[in-house]
This record gives sequence, structure tokens and C-alpha cells, in this order.
Amino acid sequence: MKMRTLYYKILTNAISRYLKTPQFLVLYLTNECWMKCRHCFYNEKFHEEINITKKEMTFDEIRKLSESIKKILYISFAGGEPFIREDIAEIIRLFTKDRKIYRYQIPTSGFRTDMIIEKTVRILEENPVIPFRVHVSLDGTKEIHNKIRGLKNSYENAIETIKELNALKKHYSNFDTGLITTICSYNQDNMDELSEVVNEVHSGGEWCINIVRGESRNPIAKDIDLSNYKKANEIISRNIKNGTYKGYSGHITSGWLSAKNAARRKIIYRILSDSYKGGGCSAGSLGGVIYPDGSVFPCEMLNKSAGNLHNYDFNLPKIWNSENARKLRNWIQESNCICTHECSLSTNFLIQPRTWPSLIAERFKLLMYS
Ligand code: SF4
Ligand code: SF4
Repeated sequence: MKMRTLYYKILTNAISRYLKTPQFLVLYLTNECWMKCRHCFYNEKFHEEINITKKEMTFDEIRKLSESIKKILYISFAGGEPFIREDIAEIIRLFTKDRKIYRYQIPTSGFRTDMIIEKTVRILEENPVIPFRVHVSLDGTKEIHNKIRGLKNSYENAIETIKELNALKKHYSNFDTGLITTICSYNQDNMDELSEVVNEVHSGGEWCINIVRGESRNPIAKDIDLSNYKKANEIISRNIKNGTYKGYSGHITSGWLSAKNAARRKIIYRILSDSYKGGGCSAGSLGGVIYPDGSVFPCEMLNKSAGNLHNYDFNLPKIWNSENARKLRNWIQESNCICTHECSLSTNFLIQPRTWPSLIAERFKLLMYS
């Protein structure tokens, strides 16, 4: 076994033993969604393949889960459409009330503006300090976005939601809005035009460009020309230079998070051009995923579960330090697993020294142009 593999096996197991739970958790609250997006990996076929059921954890079960966690750096309360969940504000309160969480976010399609704003305001009123972000998906200009999302007025509603969320930033200093574009075959030629929309409705805010992943609902979505991903990166670099891109805001590490996203885009490009080696993934140690039915996975890309919380009395440390989870962690390192999943690539920065020079370089660039 290579020294590098051994190093990461020891490190990831030590992290899990010491910290007890993942520190970057994607907690899916529901499979339900208003949309059936063409590029969505979180589709019915995916649910079947990883064998998750429609049964959602109840509020009491999530309460038990929250009680089993001592401290956690970050949770993404995800879905489906997380705002569909009636008790989303109460669920978030479970994690914020004892300050056991340092930062959290909710990704959304932005389709039901009133409902999203009302619930966001409620969450902000109840949690005035901990950094919180709502990430709205914007996949193209009007026709393209609506085609991908398959629902009339998805674009118009998303734009309205973005504007209203940005208006909230003036009243809540711990709040931030982000835009996420998932590049796929349908929008890969639309980035210049989309960039203009972003500059208009989200001037100075963070714009994340992700790349379609997993088995999308419509397989054509994955038919991407890599030069278009490169071009999208160049648009963001251009925006940094001309000062229209300011990146994250709302907390002390914002500048570093923006720099991390820039360095991450470069790593993704190298992975897709086969010039970046796998190994050292933080999924299964720093990063973890819980699906609505309580199934625990190291990441959203592997069909390998550590088990279900129902069988561990909703105690996450128990499942995270089980023999099954340890074997999974070792397999991830031994197989030199590699993929473009943005969340795991982000947490990899914390344990992979090879990523640090580029992170520091991007931080300097942002400082220079801010
Ligand atoms: S991409 Fe998001 S909004 Fe679209 S179907 Fe999937 S979960 Fe729903
Ligand atoms: S490289 Fe990707 S698929 Fe492999 S463990 Fe990491 S996140 Fe999961």
C-alpha cells in the first residue's frame, strides 16, 4: 500500500474517531419537489438504486439525531425542495439553539417566492447570529431555465426570489444569498448571457457554477463540451477582475470560501481533463450525507451506505464510528476514488496539502481585485 493511501486512511479514521460525526453534513429533509429538472441526479431512479424510501424522518427522529451531535461546522438542509417541509424552521432551531452549528444553508429552486421568503424570515428572526445562506438555482436565461426546470414561470419566480432574498441581506447581517448554476448540455452555450442576468439581479454576490453530476433524469444533460466549463470559469475570473464579483459575504471566512470555490473550479477542470489523480477524499470522514429516510452515506455519488439511523436509535456518532463506516472510509482511500462533486472537493481542502498553494493564490487574487 502506498504511503499516501496509508496516510489518508489513518487521517480520515482519526478525524471520525475524534470528531464523532461529519463536520460538513448534507441533511436531506424530503424527496418531494415542485420540479422534475432534466439535469437532476436526485431522481426516482437514483432513489431506487441507492435503496432509499419515501418515508421521511419525523421531527422527533430528527430531534434525536440533533441531540446526538455535539458540534458541527456546517449543515446543508437539502432536498428535493427543502422549503416544502412544513417544520423546516423548527428543524433548524434544533441545531441552532445550543449553538452547536457554525454555518448552514438551504438550497432551493426559488419557485414559490412567498413561502420561501416567509420561512427564511422566520428562520432569521429565530436565529439572528449564526451565518445562514439560501442558495437559489438559476440555470440559464428565461427560455433555457424554464426548459431545464420544466415548469412555467420557474425563471420569473426564481428571479423574484433572488431579489427578495437579496433585500433581506440589508436587515440581517448574518444572512447571504447565493446563486448556483449547474452546467449541463442545455445551458453550456448560455453562460455569457446568464452572466449578464447575474450581474443585474445579484450584483456583487456569490455565483457558483457547478457541473452536472450523477445520472441525470435526462441523460442528454451530461453531454458537455469541456471548453464550455472552462469558458464559464473565465467569465467568473473576468468578473472578479472588473469588480462585479464580490463572492461570499456574511461571515468571517467569506473571503476564503470564495477563494476555495475558484480553486475548486480549476480542480474540476483538471479532473475532467484527466490530469488530476484521486485519493484523499474527505467524504466519509469530514463530509457525510443523510437522506430523508435516515440512510447515512459518505457522499451523494457512491451507492455505499454506512447504515440507517433507524437501526442506531438516530445516534449519528454510533453509525459514523461503526465497523461498516470504517470499512467504507478505507475503501474510499484504497480505491483512490475521484469525482467532481463540489461539496466533497470543498472539504478536501481541509485535509489535502496539495490544494493549499492554489487556494492561497486565489485568496490573493480576490484581495487584489476587491
Ligand atoms: S434539481 Fe432540485 S429542484 Fe430540480 S428536480 Fe432536482 S431536487 Fe428538484
Ligand atoms: S471521490 Fe466522489 S464518489 Fe468518491 S468518495 Fe469522494 S465524493 Fe464520493
